[in-house]
Amino acid sequence: MDTKEFRDIGHRMIDYVADYFETLNQRNVMPSVSPGFMRSRVPSAANNDPQDWDDIFKDIESVVMDGMAHWQHPNFYAYFPSGHSWPSVLGEILNTSLGCVGFTWESAPSCTELEMAMADWVAKMIGLPNEFLFYNSDSEQLTQNGGGGVIETTASESTFMTLLTAKKSTLDQTMAKASELVCYASEQAHSSVEKAAMMANVAIHMIEADENNSMRGPALQEAIENDIKYGLKPIYTCATLGTTSSCSFDNLEEIGAVCKKYGIWLHVDAAFAGSALICPEYQEWMKKGFDLMTSFCFNPHKWLLINSSCSLLWVRDRNILSRTFSVDPEYLKHEHQVSTVDYRHWQIGLGRTFRSLKLWFTIRRLGVKGLQEWIRHTIALGKEFESMVRQDDRFELYNETKLSMVCFKLKGSNERNEILYEKVNNTKKTFIGQSKIKDVYFLRFATCSRLTNIEDVKLAWKVIQDCVDN
Ligand code: PLP
Repeated sequence: MDTKEFRDIGHRMIDYVADYFETLNQRNVMPSVSPGFMRSRVPSAANNDPQDWDDIFKDIESVVMDGMAHWQHPNFYAYFPSGHSWPSVLGEILNTSLGCVGFTWESAPSCTELEMAMADWVAKMIGLPNEFLFYNSDSEQLTQNGGGGVIETTASESTFMTLLTAKKSTLDQTMAKASELVCYASEQAHSSVEKAAMMANVAIHMIEADENNSMRGPALQEAIENDIKYGLKPIYTCATLGTTSSCSFDNLEEIGAVCKKYGIWLHVDAAFAGSALICPEYQEWMKKGFDLMTSFCFNPHKWLLINSSCSLLWVRDRNILSRTFSVDPEYLKHEHQVSTVDYRHWQIGLGRTFRSLKLWFTIRRLGVKGLQEWIRHTIALGKEFESMVRQDDRFELYNETKLSMVCFKLKGSNERNEILYEKVNNTKKTFIGQSKIKDVYFLRFATCSRLTNIEDVKLAWKVIQDCVDN
């Protein structure tokens, strides 16, 4: 395939994708396939001879689209959003076309430095304290002992990296034994926190949340005191802003004060909700306690119109990462490695791509203003949906809707709600989520697609109501 063919087929692919989006609302949201469906559609071994693009394009429908859950469909409301925008897609095209690997500054200077710049841009957009920035606002000089940000693949990786850093630095600096270390998270934290503890081989204590599904300082303090009594060494707490099940918020101010008292690393996982911080009205209450955290993570690839993967992690002290995870083989050495940033120390893998391009394109094209409008638009749609739920006295809200995700249920038993969930999603016309907390089963409705408008929300609500009636 030469560049002429790339140009021709590239245009054809862009047309295909644009057509897909323009006609997406004519498709079912979810497919009607069963596990193993692909087996009869894809040969059991690869072709030896090259094939024509016409044949490849022809198979996109039967092989790919037939089995697609259309996450960008205007009536997809399950899980959390999977970010998408055209500037971001174009950024990914350039990223994958450049094909660079930015593990050190030398291996890809632009890749490293644009990522640093974007980490500072977004840190300012979401109101992180200045200590998390690479550069002081009016200085050309990189801060010497300051913080900074990195694009990780996932929030799970951020939790794992920060927990490992807390573990290794404790072992390096104290007499504590690995078997004595313990970390904390709410019982409502995402499963990735428990998994991180499992992989890091650190004991984890899940703290009972209060009636608002919020982890509180006194409960954390009690667990810590108890553990210390038994000779354990608390090293790390992961607090969540916007839990996966119910978009609830841990009390950062209280938790931060406890972590400070016991010298514990406080990581904040705001994977979904963090995007709302670009709007000043959400900063007001979500930022309380930011001055006490050690690291912060959110996923622009969820709710900020950035395509996956793009999970931003900031640390207050970036040197702790290079100190803790510095392995320095000859083949990666370069003359600037002491004075600049080598992202190889900030992540698990070595290889990394030019992911900041999609942030740069999207922020520049939409502006902070455009992104704020997007966040406010989805929150307004959530409010509309919430008021529809309120007006139907067969339903009730599960909790207070803080952002764009509405948690609701039919009044009555879990079984009624489980049946409703199945019925709604079996229509394939809309797709909603579900969760269960303390034996209460409820439904989750999160606006995910940037194509969704109020008519789509009304249609989804009608589908839900019809499924109760029939
Ligand atoms: N943390 C929270 C609060 C989440 O809601 C999620 C996923 O929905 C995650 C972490 C995991 O995100 P990732 O897939 O980026 O690891």
